[in-house]
Amino acid sequence: MTLADYHLHTADSADSTESMAAVCRRAVELGLNEICFTEHFDTDPYDRGYGYYDDARYQRRLDDVRQEFAGRLVIRKGLEFDWQSRYAARTAELLAGYRFDFLIGSVHCVFGSMAREALQRGFPPEEVYREYFAELRTLVATGLPDVLGHVDYVRKVGWDLLGSWRYGDFDREAAALARLCAARGVGLEVNTRHRDRGQPIVPGVDVLRAYREAGGRTVTLGSDAHTADAMGAHLDAAAARLREAGFDEFAVFCDRRPTWRPLP
Ligand SMILES: [Zn+2]
Ligand SMILES: [Zn+2]
Repeated sequence: MTLADYHLHTADSADSTESMAAVCRRAVELGLNEICFTEHFDTDPYDRGYGYYDDARYQRRLDDVRQEFAGRLVIRKGLEFDWQSRYAARTAELLAGYRFDFLIGSVHCVFGSMAREALQRGFPPEEVYREYFAELRTLVATGLPDVLGHVDYVRKVGWDLLGSWRYGDFDREAAALARLCAARGVGLEVNTRHRDRGQPIVPGVDVLRAYREAGGRTVTLGSDAHTADAMGAHLDAAAARLREAGFDEFAVFCDRRPTWRPLP
């Protein structure tokens, strides 16, 4: 497989205990020649992962696997930072202190709790959605991330709760957001996490098409795996979705600069 998995978590994320070496071994088994770890960076003091990120520890672990897999696997250093606009200034300041190859910016929370929890607590879906997209727009305006993670996360994690709820206006809002990304030079990732548990691959083909038609080129693929056995999962389906949206390339990053590879 010539695809690159650009969304991976290991023990440097508070919600994973996986070793980097195990993920790298699996990548080699699958025939991938490039991956990017994107450990969590939590910015909310109420989040259980807050303060867990340790750049020196992360860098040491990366150095070890880069040595072990030299010549077999390109291993990039990335980060998935959680975006909540109320912590905007502090987030930008903290991130400025480190160096990465690739940055994913993701909105997971609305009204101070995880999107799925907000739906479970009975917040009306339209309010959850309105807040979710408002947060994403503020994130795009910062220009901080290279790509937005898992747009639209609400549908991804709430698909079973939302059931037959009509997305209508929010599909149009997602497409508008994609055009804003293209205008601001922010990319999109196609996220395949938990597809085997029924979660949809996001974003939808219309969102990706809107991004491409607005001139957007920077699309990455990510399994969002938190274990070695989930790494690389369903990337072929993500590639198929990109093709359906009219893309024939995907992006990889080094030192925050993209280069493009043909989609197989
Ligand atoms: Zn995420
Ligand atoms: Zn993730």
